[in-house]
Amino acid sequence: MLLEKAGVSHVETLCPKCGWRLNASACPTDDRRPEGGDFSLCGKCYVVLRFESDLRLKAVSEAELEALDEDILEDLQKVRTILISLARRDAGGERGSA
Ligand SMILES: [Zn+2]
Repeated sequence: MLLEKAGVSHVETLCPKCGWRLNASACPTDDRRPEGGDFSLCGKCYVVLRFESDLRLKAVSEAELEALDEDILEDLQKVRTILISLARRDAGGERGSA
């Protein structure tokens, strides 16, 4: 089903940075469900988040980010780019005249 492809439901958490309601995620590479320790990004402010073992999301600190493997950082950057382009597409035509 489309809904299942669009996202996997998890424990609802408010984004620690912007307060956006986060209750679903999608893995860009496969249909895997999120697990504790997985990284995610807020779909609104794009802050890097990490799933706790109970699948709540917590913000990743700058120090934690700096300690990550480059592969993971690259993947997060790719996902962020995708999210930003999707947000731009969705916002197209909604703006009034400047
Ligand atoms: Zn956010």
